[in-house]
Amino acid sequence: MSKILVTKSSMPLYEEYCKEIKELWDSHWLTNMGIKHQQLEKMLEEYFGIEHVMLYTNGHLALENAIAALNLPKGGEVITTPFTFASTTHAIVRNGLVPVFCDIKEFDYTIDTDKIEDLITDNTVAIVPVHVYGNICDVEEIDRIANKYGLKVVYDAAHAFAVKYKGKSSASFGDASMFSFHATKVFNTIEGGCVCFQNPEWEMLLYNMKNFGIQGTESVQYVGGNAKMNEFQAAMGICNMRHLSEEIDKRKAVVERYRSRLEGVEGIKLSVVQENVESNYAYFPVVFDGYKYTRNEVFEKLAETGIGARKYFYPLTNSFECYRNYPTAGVEKTPIAQHMALRVLTLPLYADLELKDVDKICDVILEER
Ligand SMILES: *Cc1c(COP(=O)(O)O)cnc(C)c1O
Repeated sequence: MSKILVTKSSMPLYEEYCKEIKELWDSHWLTNMGIKHQQLEKMLEEYFGIEHVMLYTNGHLALENAIAALNLPKGGEVITTPFTFASTTHAIVRNGLVPVFCDIKEFDYTIDTDKIEDLITDNTVAIVPVHVYGNICDVEEIDRIANKYGLKVVYDAAHAFAVKYKGKSSASFGDASMFSFHATKVFNTIEGGCVCFQNPEWEMLLYNMKNFGIQGTESVQYVGGNAKMNEFQAAMGICNMRHLSEEIDKRKAVVERYRSRLEGVEGIKLSVVQENVESNYAYFPVVFDGYKYTRNEVFEKLAETGIGARKYFYPLTNSFECYRNYPTAGVEKTPIAQHMALRVLTLPLYADLELKDVDKICDVILEER
């Protein structure tokens, strides 16, 4: 049997991409907010139904810059969760802020809003929640808490492209949201990302941050870095946007097949289907809790058959070596997140995954046939 990887990047036809980048060969304009960059930014503003989108060379720098734009006092505490990709916690720490880890909810893996207020101190300045696997956080409750205590909110929405809550885009919550357009995400620009934000003044601020603070040819107004998306990335995004709804429909069929095979099996728990949420079917997490095999055993069984699953998210970010000396670190502070991290496996999921392969994967897990 040929190998099945955990993900496979969505790509347009070779000819479609070549046609898209032909102009770049003619113009020799390869980066620095050229025509493709402008076109993709506009496309996304329309798609999200919001006014302000800033493109970035990757999602991580987008998140780092969004947090920097809040202009928070150094050493301020930021409430976040450890059940996420390294990027979320690193973006907080690289801004000179202190991550304070809140536990997650057992059924959708997002921040447990009932536990946020207990963590708030005089030093708390912001909340950085994660829409884990595309599951939307309790945005209304987070909003209430943020208003009550005067906190800023930046969402890590890396997993939540094309997700809607009560008909509104996932890009419209908090002060800002970061999306990743990495090759492995539902929508990709090879590498890439964006910040969606509410405050019009951030247009200039974020632009300065991603382009050395250069305004015009003779004026440098800000100590910025370089995090620009180039024209080839933007061209890939333009092509992939054309096929987005098709791709999501195919993912949906894969997810439905998984659910039909795994739902109700003793010891196997699936993510809840959230109410009022239009999903992007980004991931298919399965929790092995009291199943005849442990998560690690299932992982090994799949690997032996050439099937790649991923222990995503394991380990928790609050157990990373680089945070060992942080007083706020330690998995014992977030027991539900730790429980999940030890038991969860995300199964292969991408638009072109064939349903017969989904069946093979389920056969291995369930030991059928
Ligand atoms: C992918 C991802 C990021 C980082 O995005 P890049 O585009 O890879 O830099 C941040 N947070 C989460 C939760 C992610 O999955």
